[in-house]
Amino acid sequence: MRLFFDETVPTDVNELASLLSLPISSGEWKRLRKKAFEFMKKVWNGKIAIRALLEISNVCRRNCYYCGMRRDNKSLERFRFSEDKIIEVVVRSPYSTAVIQAAEDSWLTCDRVANILREIRKRRPDIAITLSLGEQTEDTYKAWKVAGADRYLLKFETFDDELFKHYHPEFEGVPSRKEALLILKKLGYQTGTGFLIGLPGQDMKDFARGILWIAEHKFEMIAHGPFLPAAGTPLGDYEPDWDWMLEMCMKLLILSRLAVPWAGIPATTAVYTRYGFDALVELVRCGANVAMQNFTSSEHGGKYYIYPDKKSITLEVFSKVAEEFDLKVSTERMDMFKPDNVDQWLNAAAE
Ligand code: SF4
Repeated sequence: MRLFFDETVPTDVNELASLLSLPISSGEWKRLRKKAFEFMKKVWNGKIAIRALLEISNVCRRNCYYCGMRRDNKSLERFRFSEDKIIEVVVRSPYSTAVIQAAEDSWLTCDRVANILREIRKRRPDIAITLSLGEQTEDTYKAWKVAGADRYLLKFETFDDELFKHYHPEFEGVPSRKEALLILKKLGYQTGTGFLIGLPGQDMKDFARGILWIAEHKFEMIAHGPFLPAAGTPLGDYEPDWDWMLEMCMKLLILSRLAVPWAGIPATTAVYTRYGFDALVELVRCGANVAMQNFTSSEHGGKYYIYPDKKSITLEVFSKVAEEFDLKVSTERMDMFKPDNVDQWLNAAAE
């Protein structure tokens, strides 16, 4: 098993943590970034993808410390789309991937979501359906896959079990999240995971262990976003080290691309929200190849409140990013399976 498609990236936790401590301006990171970008360009022949993001409920039964949609945030106005409304917004998705995202809303039962998926499939057989609906049972994941879902996003946020339990008091911990991710892969989902970068208490070994695990299991989607404190949460007053966080987003992105060259790796909305257009360009330079355009935020006035003042990366914005690198933005579904000729094209990329 090749963990990284670059033989200089350490596979020992301590050594990888040391590499992560070097500044992004160092020669080592410049070289790795160049290679990550070349790999990304090869994946879809000079194309990067835009997906449609559809937020369907901000009602949450959980109480994660960092999230503005936590149950105890009583100042947040809640919304939930009806079944018909969910079907309608997905069916009219202008892009060939619809990412259906919700907080952990008990109303979104196994049967209800499966019925919704079947109806969407009837009317839009062409699109890839990505679900981001939290931790569920294996039977539920299976039912949703059979009903038509293609992809599933479930981030672990931090790979340190104690820290995970601290920030997610109602979840079992990292082992159970890892198990869920492996079940999703086994069921045939293109599966996505990643870090929330900048939670107080994370260290380089946490990041190194998580990246090595991603490299081992070759997740098809890898998303690392910065932690943006939200009012109404226990971490609302926390002041992150903004420069460090952006650097970590870039380094983890580079390592993720070198671990899984064919993965969909987003230039995240959170980075765009906090750091703006130039940071989006930097993420693509590090190997990001996906963005998500939000098609529902205007309908519920920013109430999908994981963090404040969320912006949307539009097709126009992402096309401007693409122009910087002579890339094209595609709205096609662009599945993320390992290419048969992976060695051939990686060798070509390295030449
Ligand atoms: S992170 Fe997810 S599960 Fe946790 S409070 Fe926010 S929406 Fe709910």
